[in-house]
Amino acid sequence: MLDTFNRPLRDLRISVTDRCNFRCTYCMPLDEYEWLEKSEVLSFEEIARLARLFVSLGVEKIRLTGGEPLARRALEILIAKLSTLEPAPEICLTTNGSLLAEKIPALKAAGLRRINVSIDSLKPERFRQITKRGDLQKVLDGLFAAQRLGLKPIKINAVLERGVNEDEILDLVAFSRAHEFSLRFIEFMDVGNANEWRLDKIVSKQEIIATIHARFPLRQIGRDKGSAPSVDYEFVDGCGGDVGVIASVTEPFCGTCTRARLTADGKFVTCLFAHTGYDLKKLMRGGASDAEVLDVLETIWGRRRDRYSEERLAALQSQVGYDPKRQKKIEMISLGG
Ligand code: SAM
Repeated sequence: MLDTFNRPLRDLRISVTDRCNFRCTYCMPLDEYEWLEKSEVLSFEEIARLARLFVSLGVEKIRLTGGEPLARRALEILIAKLSTLEPAPEICLTTNGSLLAEKIPALKAAGLRRINVSIDSLKPERFRQITKRGDLQKVLDGLFAAQRLGLKPIKINAVLERGVNEDEILDLVAFSRAHEFSLRFIEFMDVGNANEWRLDKIVSKQEIIATIHARFPLRQIGRDKGSAPSVDYEFVDGCGGDVGVIASVTEPFCGTCTRARLTADGKFVTCLFAHTGYDLKKLMRGGASDAEVLDVLETIWGRRRDRYSEERLAALQSQVGYDPKRQKKIEMISLGG
């Protein structure tokens, strides 16, 4: 199934809740937020039904995200349901790690094999400032609990923001090398509407790679499957672990984007920077058959023309410039990263 630019649908990111126990400054820093009513959030049965339909259309990888996905009670029940899909998709989880230590045994038993844990600083005070609520030690406990249970690869996501944590690039790399984690730096993106994004807050991929390469020489591997958001590198000295950069701003990868998103309240969204999505919950709760839902999914993907990050770069490089507030976007906390 191809979109307007011949991009297949291969990945589905499912936000299982819009709630989060952190308030990361670069994501959704507001203390007060209009959270979804419980009845508005898709049930595990509804999510599993949609996942089955997406898999039948070619989705090979499902990432559970949020909000904070582990804030949703009994997530292992959903993972167990997704683990029975045919053909079996790869099931991954992106988490802030704060609840991981207590939950990872049940998640693994249900079929989870791959996790990404977000850690932007290894300094407890700074970690608390960035997340506004987080306890670094709890996150590290979760990270190592997952490693002891044999999950592999374990990825660490680190968003870099100029003047906040770019001085920790090498510390994060040294930590990941020492423990054989895969480290993914993420350029600060203008997701949502609340994070006060500015171009000068970005630490570019070029700068990140140059900084690492000068200390730990790197060899480029490329994008996993040709379509992953991250450009990956291995260490020339053969040390375990690897490193990559997701450079949505300076080196957009819309041309190979195979990702669809499902919000916690059942909106089908075809771009991380979208301002709206199609209401699949309404369709399903209105009694639509599988064939009717499939028809909608195929039509929407077939019409997909999103290339927001490429347009952003073109605007940034033009006389006119780029205004991050030109379009109201869905908040990352609802959409899932
Ligand atoms: N709560 C989970 C977590 O912290 O990993 C999952 C949701 S979070 C929205 C998913 C990922 O998006 C995290 O790795 C986070 O760092 C990243 N993210 C959030 N806002 C971002 C931004 N403005 N720029 C780049 N990455 C961002």
